[in-house]
Amino acid sequence: MNRRKGIVSGSQSRLSRQGTTSVVPDVAEQQRNFLAASAAEVHTSGAKAHRNGAGFSAWLKPCPDVAPKLVSKKLFLIVLLSCAWIGGASLARAQFGRLGGIVNRGKATVDKGLDKADQGKQIAETFTPLTTEQEVAMGKEVAAKMIAYFKPFKNDKAQAYVRKVGRAVALQCERKDVKYRFALLDTDDVNAFAAPGGFIFVTRGLLENIQSEAQLAAILGHEIGHVSGKHMVKQLETDKVVQAGLKQADSFTSGSPYLDQVGREILARLIDRGLDHTAEYDADQRGANYAYAAGYRPDGMVAFLTTMRAAVEKADAKTAWLARTHPPIQERIQRVQQLVSDRKWQVEGRPDNFARYQATMKAAAGQ
Ligand SMILES: [Zn+2]
Repeated sequence: MNRRKGIVSGSQSRLSRQGTTSVVPDVAEQQRNFLAASAAEVHTSGAKAHRNGAGFSAWLKPCPDVAPKLVSKKLFLIVLLSCAWIGGASLARAQFGRLGGIVNRGKATVDKGLDKADQGKQIAETFTPLTTEQEVAMGKEVAAKMIAYFKPFKNDKAQAYVRKVGRAVALQCERKDVKYRFALLDTDDVNAFAAPGGFIFVTRGLLENIQSEAQLAAILGHEIGHVSGKHMVKQLETDKVVQAGLKQADSFTSGSPYLDQVGREILARLIDRGLDHTAEYDADQRGANYAYAAGYRPDGMVAFLTTMRAAVEKADAKTAWLARTHPPIQERIQRVQQLVSDRKWQVEGRPDNFARYQATMKAAAGQ
């Protein structure tokens, strides 16, 4: 276990009262220089963006679709912790078994001389899609179960800050039929989750290993991307157990055996496995897009993953979860870098808000 001081330990107090050490080894000199340089430019570029009424000023805008009153504190605690990385082995088996049947039927259709549009129609009609209400009900169920697994990280300053950044980023996403909620989990593990229905969770360990607001924005964007891309929902919709439940009238009543079963299944996948790599790369791209649209530097995810790379490659226990549920870190870095290059996104002159992140986390640690 790497117990060296974290890269942020010089300027950011630990959030944990227990004084846990960062999992990030003191190796990313290049990254430190990058962040130090960025910190110097935050004041000028951030102020400029605000004066121009562009980009980061979205942070200050009211956000009707992700409004502050969208959920009460009490409900939020009840709903705490849901997520959904679907795509594990048994669900995959169910999916592939089902899909195999569809493929065979599709082939037979081709043999009968029907065109591809007919095949597509047949496949699309095979599964009943989840409604938003059903998705949210599943998310709440998972949340209730997750409470037993993690504790909430009760820190008002950190919570308010994450919520504010999250709302700014969520404002930029395509999907508006769900409300995006943000909560913190009290664990050293470095990870974040997106639950069905828009419930986003980040761990204390993650906050302790982020250096700037742009990094936080990219990570929250990644999670929002899972929700807006319906990555988990699409996989749930192909599961035979889920489909069977959709035909039962009482499946979505609170406390139903169906919700319990689906919730357990989702929870197991959240903790142990992840979505397929295609979904993760898509979430990275969406997240970078949202964060950039919100006004941040577009390389927040690259910066974060770069700081985490050494810990992940050394199989540090606190990053094992991240490594297990996401694709190879170097591949993710390269893909986001390629996106920034392809889109010709502006990097220099855009704020990463290093200073504000550091100050907020320091204040949160003293709470
Ligand atoms: Zn992900």
